[in-house]
Amino acid sequence: MAYHSTRVVCKLCGTESTAISPASYSYLGSPDLDTRPPETSRSALRYWLQRCPQCGYCAPDLAQGLTLAASIITQRQYQAQLSNRALPDLANTLLCWSLIQERTGNYRAAAWAYLRAAWVCDDALLADVAQRTRLNAILLFNQAPRLPGNYPSEAGTHELVLADLNRRAGRLAQVADICWQGLSKDAPAEVRRALAFEMHLAACHDTACHTLDEAYQRRYRSIVYPASFGAAGQSAPTAADGGIEALAS
Ligand SMILES: [Zn+2]
Repeated sequence: MAYHSTRVVCKLCGTESTAISPASYSYLGSPDLDTRPPETSRSALRYWLQRCPQCGYCAPDLAQGLTLAASIITQRQYQAQLSNRALPDLANTLLCWSLIQERTGNYRAAAWAYLRAAWVCDDALLADVAQRTRLNAILLFNQAPRLPGNYPSEAGTHELVLADLNRRAGRLAQVADICWQGLSKDAPAEVRRALAFEMHLAACHDTACHTLDEAYQRRYRSIVYPASFGAAGQSAPTAADGGIEALAS
């Protein structure tokens, strides 16, 4: 992968440093169910945020930022996160950016940063931290207003990400209801298949990482329906959603 190198001046302290960014992205394979991209885009996550070497400000662009960030980065919690030796630097950078977003009321951006930090913790085999990070992402996604145009904008995709966060964090009992919420919307066929796959994985007590491609290829013998099934008029997923009974063999 080719990279650009530019000089950037920190908005908060005026220190100049070098910022590196990929010149291009490519996708070799399938994204995970929670939208984590495949390589080579996956490796580019480390360049998504910049960190000022002087004041520790973390942001997608150090030259930009709210004045309020200047007071947040001096707080004990931010400084402790910045230098947390138990975590990879990239996870700390993402969690610091999340803290700024959370404190300034941008809960959705904070939630996405938590999810990305969870990916880094997955790679570092820090399962407990990854779980806590996903639980924080769930809390923040649930606090964030659902505005038109928010990524991911496709119907049912918000529920897919939430379902995967809950499943990966071990909150299996929550997954089916979230998936039904997604299936009750006018979601595209590929999203419906992924939601049905999430239900299947939760019913199998599977908390591992899985890809969207798997959702398209899997065949199920059965799905365990939530206790509330049918109460709100839900209909069972069809063969097109994942081939539940119709494709059982
Ligand atoms: Zn700075």
